[in-house]
Amino acid sequence: MRRKMAAGNWKMNGLRSSLDELEALAGAHPDPACDVLICPPATLLALAADRCAGTAIRVGGQTCHMNVEGPHTGDISAQMLRDVGANAVILGHSERRADHEESSEDVRMLAQMAQAAGLQTIICVGESQFQREATNTLDIIGAQLSLSIPDSSTGENLVVAYEPIWAIGTGQVPTSDQIGEVHDFIRARLEQRFGFGVGKSVRLLYGGSVKAANAQEIFDISNVDGALVGGASLSAKDFSPIIAAL
Ligand code: 13P
Repeated sequence: MRRKMAAGNWKMNGLRSSLDELEALAGAHPDPACDVLICPPATLLALAADRCAGTAIRVGGQTCHMNVEGPHTGDISAQMLRDVGANAVILGHSERRADHEESSEDVRMLAQMAQAAGLQTIICVGESQFQREATNTLDIIGAQLSLSIPDSSTGENLVVAYEPIWAIGTGQVPTSDQIGEVHDFIRARLEQRFGFGVGKSVRLLYGGSVKAANAQEIFDISNVDGALVGGASLSAKDFSPIIAAL
């Protein structure tokens, strides 16, 4: 049985006052039936980890650098994330791939570093609208999976998030059949590459316009083990019912 997971990606949102949302969330879910993770911007990470200490909420980063330390102005290493209390890191989000030209090969190197530092890696894959219309979705996802996921992955340190780019922040959600097809495909690929045991134990999250109103329907789809939530993770009021639906 895979433990369900609700992960919130705050992206470039949040000031210190936003940390009150974490307290509200922790208060509403003292003993959640699933893993709850919040990935705030790097500026809030240490404070968020302190606020969440002793609660069921874990915190994570939104990316990391492929080196441990050195002359990389503005960057943050996996060790630094660990040092301030992060347990996890999101890698290869489509916004990083687009804004920072991260390739799948880059993502694999970041993931290797992060896993070596003891972080759980949430590796994101997903097709564009154009790729879906050209019926290339499974080819794109297949290539992203084989290139982005390092060999050091296990059922504990790897989580895969399927985030169709056209569903992110648009209010447009794929049909249950579309989500199910991709999640079944990802599961089969992981089983092929890592063997049945590991392949079966990796959590697969869906991300893209998940809200309280559609969460239950999405969580009922086979091979969906939770969600990676953007906008609706920013407030405890919106994120709470998503956690409760798992
Ligand atoms: P939204 O939930 O705002 O669509 O964002 C999804 C996402 O990109 C999470 O990483």
